[in-house]
Amino acid sequence: MHIVQPGTEIDVLKQNNKIAHENYRLLKQHNIKSIDFMGSIGAGKTALIIKLAEKLRAKGVRVCAIAGDVTGDDDYTRFEKSGLESVNCNTGHECHLDANLIKKTLADINLDDYDVLFIENVGNLVCPADFPLGTDLRVVVVSVTEGDDMVRKHHDIFIHSDVAILNKVDIADAVDVDPEVIARDYNKLTGGVKNILKCSVKKDQGLDEILAALKL
Ligand code: MG
Ligand code: ZN
Repeated sequence: MHIVQPGTEIDVLKQNNKIAHENYRLLKQHNIKSIDFMGSIGAGKTALIIKLAEKLRAKGVRVCAIAGDVTGDDDYTRFEKSGLESVNCNTGHECHLDANLIKKTLADINLDDYDVLFIENVGNLVCPADFPLGTDLRVVVVSVTEGDDMVRKHHDIFIHSDVAILNKVDIADAVDVDPEVIARDYNKLTGGVKNILKCSVKKDQGLDEILAALKL
């Protein structure tokens, strides 16, 4: 939980946004395209980032990742094992990354060595939406295993994200979820303007469409 005293929340968010702008400028100075991946625990953020990074690295793009978690280095270890250069970023107690944590983490990265930065946020569909990190794009990842009501229950994160991804569509039947329901909800939420990108990271389906949507 991020616990904020009544009345101080505005200041906390203002301060976060100020540092997010600094992060954005720093990343632009180094010509880095950056993306914040948000979503629940188990949505498949780590696996998605690994696959996207593999595809980019095959094209000669230099990719770095920041693994955000409350504690531990499981995702960081998965990134490193896949050959993706990464930095671990533990929040300690907070259930979301914030711009200041990313500012400190960026100080440990040789920014001239990379073209793309992927940030995996802490598994959570609520507060990461309130804390922009200064990335070019924000992405929300959900999977069919979370049920067909994710968009209806979590408007904020879908509205605050530039791109929405629905993972594990290959097992939609097994979990009795109709991906079209989620797709319809998202399209409706965005005023009929945007469509959720369906994919299966495991089956390597829909990933090129995601790279295209992320302009990578
Ligand atoms: Mg993960
Ligand atoms: Zn939080």
